Formats: sequence, C-alpha cells, structure tokens
Amino acid sequence: MRVFAFLVFAALTLDASGQTTVLRGANVVHPSDGSVTVNADIIVRDGRIMAVGPSVSVPADAEIVDLEGHFLVPGYIDAHVHIASVDALRRALASGVTTARSANTPAYQDVTLKEMVRDGILPGPEILAAGAFVTPQPGDRILGDPRLGHLYEGINTDDELRHIVQVNVDRGADVIKTRATERAGLPDTDPRKQVYTETQLRVVVEAAAELGKPVLVHAHGDEGARAAVLAGARSIEHGTYLTDETLALMRERGTFLVPTYTILEDLRDPGGDYDDPVLIIRAQHMIPNSERAIRSAIAMGVPVVASTDTGYGSGSIARVGTEMVHFSRLGMTPLQALQSATTVAAELLGVSSRVGQIAPGFEADLVVLAGNPLEDIRHVQDVLAVMSNGVMAVNRLPFGR
Ligand SMILES: [Zn+2]
Repeated sequence: MRVFAFLVFAALTLDASGQTTVLRGANVVHPSDGSVTVNADIIVRDGRIMAVGPSVSVPADAEIVDLEGHFLVPGYIDAHVHIASVDALRRALASGVTTARSANTPAYQDVTLKEMVRDGILPGPEILAAGAFVTPQPGDRILGDPRLGHLYEGINTDDELRHIVQVNVDRGADVIKTRATERAGLPDTDPRKQVYTETQLRVVVEAAAELGKPVLVHAHGDEGARAAVLAGARSIEHGTYLTDETLALMRERGTFLVPTYTILEDLRDPGGDYDDPVLIIRAQHMIPNSERAIRSAIAMGVPVVASTDTGYGSGSIARVGTEMVHFSRLGMTPLQALQSATTVAAELLGVSSRVGQIAPGFEADLVVLAGNPLEDIRHVQDVLAVMSNGVMAVNRLPFGR
C-alpha cells in the first residue's frame, strides 16, 4: 500500500513539473519515407515527442514556439567525432548534432561528457562513447585509467587487445574503436599501410561482442579495410581506397561505410583542424579516391553514414550538413543524404527505436531549417534552431525570417 501511494505521488510530481512545449506551424520532414506533414504542431514533454500533426490537442498550459512555416527535420547524428570538451559539445549542438558517436578521446573525456548529457547537466548531443583507442602504439592514449599503463609500449597480443576492450567497457564505452591502417592526419604515416591483421581485429571484435559492443574500424587502405570487414567490423571509417570487391563484401555483410569526406577537404585547405604542407599534397590525391569509393558505395547500396571526424575545436570547419551536401553531389538523392545523418545513422548506432525520426515516442531531438532539404539539400547547413532532449538548446529563429 505504501509503495502504491509513493508511485501515485511520483507520477503526480512528474506530471506537474513536466512542462509541455508545442512547436507550432512546422513543415515536418519525415526521412523514413520522404513525406512532409504540412503546418503541423509537435507536442513535446519530458524530452519525448508526444504527438505530431495538423490537428493535435494542445494542453492549456503549454509553452508555444511558433516555427512560422519553417521546416523541421530530426536532429543530426554525427557518427564519427572526437569531442573532448564542453565547448566542443556546444559547437556540435549548434550545428544541429543531437547524437554523436565518439571515435575515441583521451582519458575517457567522451564518457564523462556522455554522463553529463545523460544527467541533464548539458542539453546534448547524446554521446555514444568509445573511450581509449585500441591501436598498436597508443602512447598517451592509455592515460586515464591505471589499468592501461602497462600497454604504453604497445597493444598487440590477444591478452592486451582483450584487456583494453574490457577496461573500456568497464569505464562506460558504448562502442570500441580500433584501426586497420595508419592515420592520414599525420605527415609521417601512410594511410594505406595495414597495421592490425585480420586475426588481431577478430580478437577485438569478439572481445567486444562478448560484452555486447560493436566495433568501428579506422581503415583507409583496401587491404586493411577488407581484413576489418572479414573480422566482423560494424563500420569502416574513412574507406578512402576501398575497391568494389571490398564494397561488395560490405553490402553482403551489412557493414556500414562512414567516409568522413569533409575532413579531407580540411586537410587540403588552409585553416581548420589541419594545416600542414604534406597533408595538403596528400589530400589532393586522397580526395578523388574517396569520391570514387563513396560513389561506388552509393551505387552498390552499401549503407553510407554522415560524420565529421572533427573535435569541434574553435577552428574546426567540418560539419555534418556539409557532409550531407557532398553525399548528394556524389550520387545520393536529397532524401538519401538526409537519411545518412538520421535514419541510416540511427541504424548504425543501434538507436533507431528512439532517435532519427519525428514521431510519437521518439526523443525530442529536432532541427529547424529555413527551407525544404528535399528540394535543396543545402538547407541542412543553415540550422535556425535545435531542440535536444526536449530542450530548446539553440534558437536563431528571430534572424531566420
Ligand atoms: Zn577520427
């Protein structure tokens, strides 16, 4: 009886404190089927979408936000980030990102940021954390947990590979990030060179699978990427030199491609996250290869997902909107480009039952645009307002008229 009384009380308090927000007069774009609900109201409460439609009943005490006929799309998913500070998190949010998959940060900063968002201290984006990078020569990347100190010289044996996966998951990682090839973003590495063997990658994938976690694999060169696909990677990150044979294998196995195209332009152009003469030269020949791989992947039906591969630092110029525009240029329809940062990305992240659509029961993660992205995909780059977990986190609507 006492338990019952408590439950009723709890329900009443939640009801009284749960402010209802109504987003009024929006054109709602549904990436699942490309339909648009014209002049709709969206009822939001307790971080969730309660109702969507032209004639939904609005509670008397609701706070009304007039969207004045602007277009509403689901909050963007950035499937490859290196967000390691609160400022960086805010920049991602301001660009429309309400969900982000970390591709590792130093010292479990992504785990802490994830928890701050989960606890309501920060409005978003929600982070899927990766923790420490599973890489042959980790250096400082093992800092942040005393159980990793002995891996400073290298992570290569089966025991070492399993150990770091276990520590990452203990610390709160949702995904495991490893690599099959060298980096592109350092002048003295060759991104085509394979580092871990298929056998080593399989050890990582199996250790992660035992703990219920998927593995994303950094791979530019085709040999390394193929090894990663065969080892059971959930997604190939970059995939710059992917051949059609490996892409066919990916389609067969349901492996996702996260091309991180926009960051290659940053490598090539002055400013941004990268500014190095060797990288400028390298990017000039990486870009046509990446474009070829992306075009083939789209044509072959490999699921391609948008991302930035940026840390959203103060000089960062990579944005998910830009990636969607590039995907459209490289062969996607505007709808497919929008899906690459919403429905298809949600599938990759395993969150498609609660993220990536504007429908009752889904999280209230929403982006307001000035025009219809299905008519001109470039509208996704001009984010007028962002709601994350039901909180109006960014609002530039007065300037968007
Ligand atoms: Zn990265």
